[in-house]
Amino acid sequence: MPIYEFRCVECGNLQEIIVSSASQEVAMACKACGCEILERVLSTVSYMMGSSSAPKSEGPSLTTKNCGSGNNCSTITLPGYTR
Ligand SMILES: [Zn+2]
Repeated sequence: MPIYEFRCVECGNLQEIIVSSASQEVAMACKACGCEILERVLSTVSYMMGSSSAPKSEGPSLTTKNCGSGNNCSTITLPGYTR
């Protein structure tokens, strides 16, 4: 999972947020002052660390779920192709 670093525009507090889905970004807020305006800081450290185990963090991912009645549903997620 990619780890992004965000900086509060009000007090400058830095915090790392693990983003597992795009919808989670809505709930972000500064833990110091509660300001919801955070700007993203590019963190090259976490990006480099993931290169040893996973080839790319932007690669397609396959999710298999049990939809009931013995059927498995597979969903292929392709980042960057949201249309
Ligand atoms: Zn703040």
